[in-house]
Parts: sequence; structure tokens; C-alpha cells
Amino acid sequence: MALSKAYVDPERCKSCGLCIAYCPKKALEMTDEINSHGYKHVQVLEDVCIGCGTCYTVCPDGVFTITDGEGGKIHG
Ligand code: SF4
Ligand code: SF4
Repeated sequence: MALSKAYVDPERCKSCGLCIAYCPKKALEMTDEINSHGYKHVQVLEDVCIGCGTCYTVCPDGVFTITDGEGGKIHG
């Protein structure tokens, strides 16, 4: 089975940085791209992410979906 991963909905991110602070693998980084609401958004370094779901838990804006790596959602 493929590894679970986190995915981002860039339009929902408000650049608060909480997920970056809490990710245990340092698998998140802020991009320089601005979404339609005027915020920079995070992106997932897929080679580093272990799909632990911490970002999903701490994000106040529902940015993350955690999948099982085969297209199925675990959270989100
Ligand atoms: S699922 Fe875990 S490892 Fe992956 S980006 Fe979120 S907090 Fe980091
Ligand atoms: S916690 Fe959510 S809103 Fe805050 S930077 Fe991360 S993805 Fe964006």
C-alpha cells in the first residue's frame, strides 16, 4: 500500500503558520504564491510527509486532506 500523504487546498490557507510549527517532519513550507483571498499558502513536501495528520488537526481553516495514498480519504 502506498504511504498516506497530506494535500493542501491553497484557496483556504490564511498563512498563519501553525501547521509548519507543528509538523514533526518539517514537511510543510510557505510558498510565495498568493491565493485569491490575498494570502500566501503552504505546500507539502511529498517526499518528506508521513501522513501523520497533525497538520489536519491543527489547521483552523480546513486546508488539509489526508489520503491513504491510493485516492481514498482518511481525514478531510
Ligand atoms: S501529515 Fe504530518 S508529516 Fe505530513 S505535512 Fe501534515 S503534519 Fe507534516
Ligand atoms: S495552519 Fe492552515 S491556515 Fe495556517 S498556514 Fe497552515 S494550512 Fe494555512
